[in-house]
Amino acid sequence: MKNFKKKMLQIFMSAIFIGGLATSGVTINAQDSGTFQGEGAGAHGPIKVEITVTDGQLEKIEVLEQEENELLAAPAFESLPDKMIADNSTDVDVVSGSTETSEGLIEAVNDALKAAGISLVAKSNSEDAEDDNGEVTEETYDVVIIGAGGAGLSAGIEAADAGKSVVLLEKMPVIGGNTLISGGEMNAPNNWVQENLGISKKDSVELYYEDTMKGGNNVADPEIVQILAENALASAEWLRDEVGVEFYDDQLFYFGGHTVERALIPKGHTGQELIIKLKEKADSLDVVTLVNTKAEHILQDDSGTVNGVQAVDKDGNELIFHANDGVIITSGGFGSNVEMRKEANPEYDEAYLSTVTVGSTGDGLVMAEEVGATLTNMESIQTYPVSNPETGRISLLADTRFDGAILVNQEGERFVEELERRDVISKAILEQTGEYAYQLWNDELDQISNSKELHEGEYNELLESGFLAVGDSLEEVANHFDIDPEALEETVEKVNEYAEKGEDKDFNHRGGLHSLENGKYYLMKCKPSVHHTMGGVVINKSTEILDEEGNPIENLYGAGEVTGVIHGENRLGGNAISDAITFGRIAGQEIAK
Ligand SMILES: Cc1cc2nc3c(=O)[nH]c(=O)nc-3n(C[C@H](O)[C@H](O)[C@H](O)COP(=O)(O)OP(=O)(O)OC[C@H]3O[C@@H](n4cnc5c(N)ncnc54)[C@H](O)[C@@H]3O)c2cc1C
Repeated sequence: MKNFKKKMLQIFMSAIFIGGLATSGVTINAQDSGTFQGEGAGAHGPIKVEITVTDGQLEKIEVLEQEENELLAAPAFESLPDKMIADNSTDVDVVSGSTETSEGLIEAVNDALKAAGISLVAKSNSEDAEDDNGEVTEETYDVVIIGAGGAGLSAGIEAADAGKSVVLLEKMPVIGGNTLISGGEMNAPNNWVQENLGISKKDSVELYYEDTMKGGNNVADPEIVQILAENALASAEWLRDEVGVEFYDDQLFYFGGHTVERALIPKGHTGQELIIKLKEKADSLDVVTLVNTKAEHILQDDSGTVNGVQAVDKDGNELIFHANDGVIITSGGFGSNVEMRKEANPEYDEAYLSTVTVGSTGDGLVMAEEVGATLTNMESIQTYPVSNPETGRISLLADTRFDGAILVNQEGERFVEELERRDVISKAILEQTGEYAYQLWNDELDQISNSKELHEGEYNELLESGFLAVGDSLEEVANHFDIDPEALEETVEKVNEYAEKGEDKDFNHRGGLHSLENGKYYLMKCKPSVHHTMGGVVINKSTEILDEEGNPIENLYGAGEVTGVIHGENRLGGNAISDAITFGRIAGQEIAK
């Protein structure tokens, strides 16, 4: 928060200064020239830049160091330096979807300018205001897809593979949606890694079906869940063999609520591996992907058959995409739309931060409703228990929980089974003092999860913000958060005893507790944050979107988080990627028939 305030103050001050100079027409520091370095705070660590200024004109901005998400940050790194140079100003708009990277980059340039004592004089940017000729652009494809996340890309690939011309509309400057920022972990029963680890016999399609139904309190559509259970492995194999996604061969995730470990892990433990490879595959099949293109309405002919999409580009120009074979909605959930959240379930108001991208605003639901679709299960909103208390971001560093890290409260006591369902853990956390909890692990666990190395940016950020304490003794980390060290030591003694005996007498930890006898220790403060919206459109087994009478809306399909019949009241970890890929593929195949 301190950094953010400082950053805003710098931007504000430079805006005032630049504005004042521009109106007075005075050129100050025109002799200023040189190469200077500066630093700003990005989303995952410092952004370091080197700028070149000649006679008060910004001529070059070079990013020397950064740890940002490659795909998400790209639009900011690609466009902002040019914009700042063109305007000779740092008073530029942040790039939507790359807000923190944009702010960090601007802060770094301001920092370099400040160190050099240079004040830029902004150029008039009236030439930027291009005339909008008000013309509507029209294009025709066989298939129009709304939303370029995992479901949209999978649908596009399948439709294109079947010979259809496909356009993917993406409203953000970068594709990928939540799939991109996800852990990318994906459940598949009887998968090859289970075989490698000798546990495949423990799993089955039936068991996966049962876990998924039970995990959602048995309110999901059994027919659709059965399709997921039967096809999840084929989806994973398709990703591996046809799309080229690399999964680790010797590791699985044991997400809460599952009876066995069954979640495959993509290289790097993030959805970036999925999105990069899906995009490459889509490109190879000539799928047209348009970013900064926001779908606004579904179009129908006189008989009600869906035949296109009305959209708008970033300059506000209207675009019409005619669709010969139909439209697939894959626009994801609505976790970032607080108003929609409150309408669906008043409990999830502004007090909740969220883990999801800013693009998750439920547009597809609004568009589908406009053409008669029925929505279901909207009140079911999931929180992720272990998230950053200040930003709401999911903690991937805390994935050590899946290998045996424990959760304790302010009193230093465990209060829930750490591999329980997300809704159960979240609820339990909100019942503790202060409505937060702490996750504790040690170096041995960190090495098993390879957590610090994989998520170094988050690690540094948490340390700096004070939400993570690292120390050689339990006393040291407990003191950081004013937890009674003796109480924490007592809890850990019990955990060590249970780990040795292989029996957790307090909470029956299904994965088996891990001894925390040896340091170093990591204690991280956490809070639940809105993570997944289980509600959405109703689809049938062909992914056709249904109207209020339960009839398909002709030529309108849906897949992924925009649908509401798969996860019931609570989605199990690793099931959303399986869902998005499986039903995205089905939608692409069905629309091409
Ligand atoms: C931090 C995080 C970690 C996660 N980790 C996992 C995990 O490890 N395993 C798992 O199974 N699940 C995970 N999930 C959940 C999972 O990532 C999502 O549910 C899933 O990726 C949704 O896929 P999708 O294709 O339906 O939607 P998204 O991937 O969200 O894609 C939807 C796209 O539609 C675009 N869009 C929206 N409206 C419009 C419009 N009007 N016009 C054009 N485009 C539009 C959005 O910008 C977005 O790009 C995680 C979620 C988060 C937030």
